[in-house]
This record gives sequence, C-alpha cells and structure tokens, in this order.
Amino acid sequence: MSFKELGLSKASVEAVERRGFSEPTDVQREVIPLILDGKSDVVGQSKTGSGKTAAFGLPILDLVDESRKEVQALILTPTRELAIQVSEELRSLRGKRKIDIYAIYGGQPIGPQIRALERAQIVVGTPGRVLDHIRRGTLRLDSLRFFVLDEADRMLDMGFQEDIEAIFRATPREKRVMMFSATMPMDVLLLAKKYMKNPEVVIVSRDELVPGEVEQEFIEAVPTRRYGILKKILSEDFYGIIFCQTKVETRELAERLRKDGFRAEALNGDMSQPSRERTFGRFKRGKTEILVATDVAARGLDVPEISHVVNYSIPMNAEQYIHRIGRTGRMGKKGKAITFIAPGELRRLRYIARQAGVDVRKSELSEELPKEY
Ligand code: ADP
Ligand code: MG
Repeated sequence: MSFKELGLSKASVEAVERRGFSEPTDVQREVIPLILDGKSDVVGQSKTGSGKTAAFGLPILDLVDESRKEVQALILTPTRELAIQVSEELRSLRGKRKIDIYAIYGGQPIGPQIRALERAQIVVGTPGRVLDHIRRGTLRLDSLRFFVLDEADRMLDMGFQEDIEAIFRATPREKRVMMFSATMPMDVLLLAKKYMKNPEVVIVSRDELVPGEVEQEFIEAVPTRRYGILKKILSEDFYGIIFCQTKVETRELAERLRKDGFRAEALNGDMSQPSRERTFGRFKRGKTEILVATDVAARGLDVPEISHVVNYSIPMNAEQYIHRIGRTGRMGKKGKAITFIAPGELRRLRYIARQAGVDVRKSELSEELPKEY
C-alpha cells in the first residue's frame, strides 16, 4: 500500500517522496484514511519512532483550507523542543502548499508570536503558552477543526490536565479530536474519551511499545561506582542521551564528563529557552555527542542517529522507561539502552520491564568488572 493509495493528495505524495519515505508505516496506513474520509475522532497508539507525526500531519495538511487564514488545527505537545520538531516536520510535509504553520511555546518573546498568529493556519504549541494567547485574545479558535494531543497520555496527566481542559473549552463544539502516543494506559484512554465523540481507537502495537531493535541491558552498581562504569560505556561509539532524575544532576554530570574530555552538555528546564535550543541544536547536528538530560528530552524527540540511551538511575515507572529508551532505535535503526540500578533494585526493574513488555538483560559490562566495582 503506497501513500497515494491511502487517498492522500498529490502535494502530500510529492512531499513524502522528497523526504525519502518509501512506504507508509503501519500506523500511517491505518490512521491516514481514517482521518481523511472519516468523521470520527481518533486515538492512535504505535511504538516509539513509528511515524505518528506524519500519520496525523499528512491528512491534516490535506484537509486544511489554504484560502482561509484562520487557525484550523491545533497540536499540543508536552515540551518546547517537541513543538519545534513537530512544526518542522509539518513544514517539510507541506511541500509547495501555502499553509502557515507556527510553533508557539514559552520562554520566547510574545510579540513575534502574536504577529505570526495573525496568519497561522496550523499551530503547534505547549499548553501554557497556548493558553496565554487564548486569554490575551491573540489565538482565536472559532474556526478550529482539528485538535491534536501528541504524547496524549502525558498531556492528560496531572501536570497538564487543567491547562488542556481550559484550552479545550476555548474550542468549538464541532471539531475532530485526535490523540497519539506509544503508551495509552486504560485509565488514560477512559479519561481521553471525555474529550471525544465515539473515537476510533487504533492500537497498532499493544505488546511492542518500543522497537525490538533496541537492545536493553541493566547494570547493578552502587551510585558511587556508576561514573566509572559510565566512562566505559562512553568509550564505545556513543551518540546519545543520559537521563538523570534532577536538573542538578544533569548539570553536575555534564560538567564532570567535560572535565574528562567528553563532548557533553546538559539539557534541563532551568536553562533559558535560547540556550535550550542551542544546546539541543548542537546535539542534533552531532557537535555534542552526549546530552545529559532530564525528562524534557524523554518524549517524542527524533534524532535518528542516536546509538545509546542511558538511564543513570532506575526510571520511576514503565512509561518513563519506554519513552526515554524510545529515543533510540527509531524507524528500523539499531539502538542500545542501558539502565543503572542500585543493589536491591532488580525486583523493581523487573516489574517495570514486565509492565513495559520488554526484556532487559544483565550487561556483560557488569560481569567484566571486578567485584568491588
Ligand atoms: P513517533 O511519533 O511515532 O515516535 P515520528 O513521527 O517522530 O515517530 O517519526 C520518526 C521518524 O521517522 C522521523 O524522522 C520521521 O521523519 C520518519 N518517518 C515518518 N514516516 C516515515 C516513513 N513512512 N518512512 C520513513 N521514515 C518515516
Ligand atoms: Mg511522536
């Protein structure tokens, strides 16, 4: 089944060809026709790195009315970097069409955003700033036809729920709601239905939330020994993200790594937005090989060449584990995920792995190490 056979316009087919997509992924095959000709709301689940952005992006681009200079689609994401990425992906899929696509997010001056919003037809944004514009009257949603929650389970959890609720109330009754994620726990699905009318629920891979191409290992070590082991991991060909639980940890670890000659930088929510964007940009271009990050980098970010993800301490739950390690092994590529656990945490890791439906093996590296490691 080709992109054309899914019913996409010539402009969209040309755009995917230019991007070098040879055929649609499973989620695209199921979701694109549903959005194009259906009237229903859509929930789409498929593993990390399987092209969910284009699955909703391509049909929305086809259905947007180019001649109407009003916001017709609103896509919400949990982080600023993801809002930027999604808007860039949509722009590249837009081809020659004159559709105005803007990302609006916090930490940026509001003036240029206000001017951009006068023309915008598709808006990608983070909830706080979107709500800000709605309240100022600079983002009007009277003509909205598509309301998308990317990383929907995260958007509906406690941190964002209130904002989402408020944004939702500012949208017209008649619209189509769509939600996407690799993880759609049953309780979230039930909550999601509150915002939707008889949604079509497309579950592409219930049992495979991260691609099988991600090799997963754990290393048991007391915290003081972790750094020494980490350096061994980094001595392999390494281009990836080390996840820490706190902002302070990311700063300290990045600094320590730099002192030891590694090209490492921290990424966390304490940094100014321009510095966040510059740091992430350098990582994306391969100027820095190691990003030491909090969960600001856990969801949705797509850097296809990432070879490794390291959890510098045990993740809190299965969702956190899945989304973090899903930054590698994207779209058929190979990847390696290594999780540090403290002695006594193996049972917890096994529980997380069972919930995530993954297999995490003991690293050979831990066996090579002397006992006192
Ligand atoms: P997800 O949201 O499912 O994690 P993304 O939408 O970020 O995945 O897509 C992952 C990567 O795959 C991106 O680099 C995207 O451009 C690319 N991609 C999307 N669809 C295809 C396709 N049909 N063929 C090849 N690459 C694709
Ligand atoms: Mg995504």
